[in-house]
Amino acid sequence: MSATNTLGFWGALWLDHIEMALQVEAGSSQNVSLGKGRNYKRRRHIQNIEVSPGCIRADIADQKSYSVQVGTELFTEASLTSMIAKVVETGQLAVALLSGEVPQELALFLFDARNFVFDCNCPSAAVVCKHGADFCWAVAELFDADPFMLLLFCGQDRDDLLSQVRSQRSPGATVQEPISDLPRGADPGITASKAYKKEPIELTDFKRLPRKSGSLATLCVVPPQDSGIEERGLQHLVSDAALRAYNLVSGTSQSYLHIDTEADLVRRFASGEISKKQMSESQKLSEADFLNLAQAWRYGQEAGLRITREVWQPTSLLLKPGIDALEAASNSTARSHNNCVNLGKTQLRLDQDNQWWRFAADDQLGWVLASTAADDPAELTG
Ligand SMILES: [Zn+2]
Repeated sequence: MSATNTLGFWGALWLDHIEMALQVEAGSSQNVSLGKGRNYKRRRHIQNIEVSPGCIRADIADQKSYSVQVGTELFTEASLTSMIAKVVETGQLAVALLSGEVPQELALFLFDARNFVFDCNCPSAAVVCKHGADFCWAVAELFDADPFMLLLFCGQDRDDLLSQVRSQRSPGATVQEPISDLPRGADPGITASKAYKKEPIELTDFKRLPRKSGSLATLCVVPPQDSGIEERGLQHLVSDAALRAYNLVSGTSQSYLHIDTEADLVRRFASGEISKKQMSESQKLSEADFLNLAQAWRYGQEAGLRITREVWQPTSLLLKPGIDALEAASNSTARSHNNCVNLGKTQLRLDQDNQWWRFAADDQLGWVLASTAADDPAELTG
């Protein structure tokens, strides 16, 4: 048998069975061994492994590109029924399955009397080419990492299996509930399953909302380095989601889930959630533009950004109240262009909802929003 001792239970079992199947196909004149598939350098040629019911396929990017796949028959109704019956009647198996493990006792349903058909479209005449051997090892590692992939390959989707097991377990069964989703860390909160089971109540029935959205519990599991997810980024994401939820429930603001990426960065920067450095790393806008937009967000959120970014041409009649207000305040002549009226270091802008905003001249930042919106421009110049 092959040197499968570096593999886990499911990987080793898979490799033994696929090797046996290939040996049967090759006949007694050839000796099939998948041992050569342990070449880790060559393994990177295997790309895009896809598991679907009855088939696992992958692309091989060797000197040329090939496609390799293995097929098997799907569970019959009878074999699936007897597998689920075994799980349901043995409490421990059900608990293991519901907590995210595939119990080893299910191996006979997954491998016994099952055929595997292997195919690679390279020119090799061997029953299993070098790509095939590499591929079988990659699949072994995949099954070790997630045995539910093996179930899927045999035709049984994980969620569907779990819901069948749940629905068939008798309500009075005294097996322990799985504890794999218990929250840990500084703020234990509530388990996802308990939260899901709770009766929904109207949000307005909450009489006492805490004064703020609460602080973030320490992450118990740091994202793996190769996941491309940084712990800091994840914390920002979670605390921002918590803050948005709090603001929605307390009526402080909208969710702002609909705004574009640039506006969202400005929003987070304006609320002090991300630093100037992080801001400039993630955007092409200059620092001055950021500071300007952040100020606009603080005064007017989305409308503040709009009046800062957008120019339009109102009629002179629409602009007249702005000119009058500025001139009344300083006894000089105001000038207008587009939707703006200027006098000295003050500018009034009219938006398309007929609201007035006051801007102040800043040596570094140019015109910066300096007020909330007003129907009457005189309120902004007093
Ligand atoms: Zn091949």
